[in-house]
Amino acid sequence: MLITQQPPLTWLQRERAWVEIDRAALQHNVRQLKHWVGDRVELMAVIKADAYGHGAVTVAQSVLAAGAEWLAVATIEEGGQLREANITAPILVLGAAHTPDQIKALLHWQLQPTLCTMQQAFAFAEVLQSLGRSLPVHLNIDTGMARLGTRWTEAATWAQWVARSPVLQLSSLYSHFATADDPDPTVMQLQHQRFQVVLQQVRSHGLPLPKLHMANSAGILSDRAYHFDRVRAGLALYGLAPAPHLADRLPLRPVLSVKARITQVKAIEPGEGVSYGYRYVADRPTRVAVVGIGYADGVPRNLSNQMQVLIRGRRVRQIGSITMDQLMLDVTDLPEDLMPGEVVTLLGTDGGDQIRAEDWADQLGTISWEILCSFKHRLPRVSVN
Ligand SMILES: *Cc1c(COP(=O)(O)O)cnc(C)c1O
Repeated sequence: MLITQQPPLTWLQRERAWVEIDRAALQHNVRQLKHWVGDRVELMAVIKADAYGHGAVTVAQSVLAAGAEWLAVATIEEGGQLREANITAPILVLGAAHTPDQIKALLHWQLQPTLCTMQQAFAFAEVLQSLGRSLPVHLNIDTGMARLGTRWTEAATWAQWVARSPVLQLSSLYSHFATADDPDPTVMQLQHQRFQVVLQQVRSHGLPLPKLHMANSAGILSDRAYHFDRVRAGLALYGLAPAPHLADRLPLRPVLSVKARITQVKAIEPGEGVSYGYRYVADRPTRVAVVGIGYADGVPRNLSNQMQVLIRGRRVRQIGSITMDQLMLDVTDLPEDLMPGEVVTLLGTDGGDQIRAEDWADQLGTISWEILCSFKHRLPRVSVN
């Protein structure tokens, strides 16, 4: 058959393997978080790193429609991508920017930068003055994360300088917790106290306080004292609890699923090896299903021989090394009518059972944030609901 028309890009979206984004779950999580923080606190949706792998544009549209007031990204390019998609909400860039070209890009896309040092504030003021422009800025105060930001002991002086600049509009002061997912609140309380000291000093200089924010997901769920004027929700937005002891605070729903189709089913004999290196050897007559997804899609190779997946609501064991584009399952105990084309759930819900990003994170000794961010762009993001 001659193909005369170019197929649409969405043509093969669910033919091989894909990431499914449950928009209803995402909006449910936004409403839960908004209800939790109350009317007087703004919700900033943290959608850096392509919205933790969920697809930044789709997520931005959904969370804004559900009531989020602000967006946060890590880089100017991420912000530009949202503007190119006609998203008009205020956007904070969490990462550092220094160069004149970066400042011009911030102005062009109307993105609001984080300032981290006095030198950076000078550089911004100089470039803005030469362009005859001004820009709202957000000051990152390091109260104990030792990442970006001016140390809390020097922050008030710095804020005062910025507030007096004719081209920098002091929009917010913020800080970031280092240990908010730890059940022991000692460090979080200390960081909170340091932030309060800075605020006291700023007030004593006679400056009106701009907007204040401090809490990531774990901070949001830990204590209302950390909410201030605005909260910065990442992981919780995507329906995952930042720590086991915070899992019961809100009924959040996971947004992301990973699915793929069976491409072949075959029988092998006892004693036969499966996949590279024969890391699995059949101990019985075994039916093997091949699935069209691999580590090049972001399925961690270190889960080889340890992972389970769901088919028809039942748990099935993955066997042998996970390869670049494919992996194998032992489907001996599933009905004989299992055929190529059948959907396999690697992460997500099928029937009454669920495999969570936390499960993979625990198995791999990492955190669920990293699991969410690991799915490659070869997997189409498909919105449902
Ligand atoms: C990533 C990030 C967040 C969101 O963190 P979660 O733990 O995913 O909620 C908030 N604030 C800053 C500064 C961040 O870098």
